[in-house]
Amino acid sequence: MILLSDPRVIEIPVADCGEPLAEIVTVPAITLDPRERDELGAYGRVRAGVLQRLGSASDRLPTGIRLLVIEGHRSPAEQARRFALYEERLRRSGISDPAELRRQASAFVSPVEVAPHCAGAAVDLTLVDADGAELDMGGTVNGHRTGDERWCPFDAPGLSPTARDNRDLLARCLREEGFVNYPTEWWHWSYGDRYWALVTGAPAAVYGPI
Ligand SMILES: [Zn+2]
Repeated sequence: MILLSDPRVIEIPVADCGEPLAEIVTVPAITLDPRERDELGAYGRVRAGVLQRLGSASDRLPTGIRLLVIEGHRSPAEQARRFALYEERLRRSGISDPAELRRQASAFVSPVEVAPHCAGAAVDLTLVDADGAELDMGGTVNGHRTGDERWCPFDAPGLSPTARDNRDLLARCLREEGFVNYPTEWWHWSYGDRYWALVTGAPAAVYGPI
């Protein structure tokens, strides 16, 4: 399992293709959930090419099942704020060496340079039925914030057959459009960022921080 804190991720070069961010709501087949809404509306945007792929992934779903996007882009400033906050927590716990602080913080919060959401390359998403009710995924999106860690990994052992099937349905439509999953979070998928490049063997990321 490759984690974002793996030093090989930051070594991946970025050849940014310069695509703009695009509003997810412009694709009517996809539903945008407001629970992570930020002041600037960044959460509702991803790179134009990522949005196009999401649209195609959505077309692959059975009738009545839709993608529900929770969070797309995150501003580099917001990511840096979260990283600094975590570093401060570690400093208060007694760690003072700057390199060690960075290493430990990177294990839990992505540094801006590798954060897939900052590149507009990542989405947190799940599936909903025709009435807008979330399908049973055997755990909630961002479950690690609510003490639900056990069900966060995509391959969490002990999932019900229904939850397993629903995760597989989500994975199938996204993988067919080139997305890769972050294995510790079943809801996190990305295309074109450094992590994606490392996992797929691409020579460079096509999306860097924006
Ligand atoms: Zn995510």
